[in-house]
Amino acid sequence: MENKQVSFFDLGYEHYMRMEYVEATRFFLKASVEHLSHYAQGWLGSCYESGLGVEKNLVIAKDLYKVARFWIRSDQSKMKHWLDERLQVLGKVPEVKECRKMVSGVGPVKVLKYKDATRAVIRFNKNEAVVTINHQTPFTDGFYIAEQRLANWTCDGVNRFYDGYTLETDYVNLKVLKSTGDTFRSTMDGKDCMLYFPRNLNLDHIYAQEQILSRVHELLFERAKVVIPKRLKEITDQLGHPEKECKIAKKGKRVMGRNYIKSNTIEINARCIQLPVESLDALLIHEIAHDFVPNHSPDFYIKMKELWGEEVYQLDRKLFQEDKWLYIRY
Ligand SMILES: [Zn+2]
Repeated sequence: MENKQVSFFDLGYEHYMRMEYVEATRFFLKASVEHLSHYAQGWLGSCYESGLGVEKNLVIAKDLYKVARFWIRSDQSKMKHWLDERLQVLGKVPEVKECRKMVSGVGPVKVLKYKDATRAVIRFNKNEAVVTINHQTPFTDGFYIAEQRLANWTCDGVNRFYDGYTLETDYVNLKVLKSTGDTFRSTMDGKDCMLYFPRNLNLDHIYAQEQILSRVHELLFERAKVVIPKRLKEITDQLGHPEKECKIAKKGKRVMGRNYIKSNTIEINARCIQLPVESLDALLIHEIAHDFVPNHSPDFYIKMKELWGEEVYQLDRKLFQEDKWLYIRY
């Protein structure tokens, strides 16, 4: 017997023939996103056109037909002919560049087509998640991608923000609370950083979670600017090392720290304010040690131990894992 691998499209087709349309559409969608199956796009289009397994939507049906028609090869003439026929039937249905839908577990999502987009990108605006896709990709792919990437959204690897969310570390006590008012508000008193979110904000929606996250980043940035330069100065003083400029990077950089030797500046990513005292010290010592040895050769580690002892070497090696702890993500 031939051992043929069954594709998502085949699975969808089997379900379709058994009139199990919800399962069928799920597999057609998977086949479209993961295997770029233009057959699956055509079949999914017909499900949307007739409301089988999904809510009837002629705009989405036409979009699927058009995308499938664009990609289908000339030797697949039967499919091509059928798609042309469907497109003719749906001739009056408007063609749009953006499409909105509520995605379960994610909230409102807008899918936007863009000619030069090479891969799907998700960003957030004031009241929805926005997925940008290439204009020859169906809208349904965009909604699927939003669901895949955002349904398990967490602010720290486990949680979504909620009223009373707390993060307690050596340098920061963060609390996220529901405000009695309609705007965001934050306070910082020593290590106590409080963020109040508007009382009517729907925390089930990822764009709302992202709004809180970006404000939490701002708070951590402010706290980092107070703590880290001061600690760096204490350490260089203790070492009798020339004073360094200290810059805090707000976000975006993967590296935790960097030593710009020429400008005498050490840059530390704001997220490092979440590290334990000794780990942040180890990071700062690491960067200072680059003043002596710019690379990560054995000499570098010898210098680090010379500056701050054996323990700092162990802590430095742990920093990478430490950064993956249940901290606010960046
Ligand atoms: Zn380094």
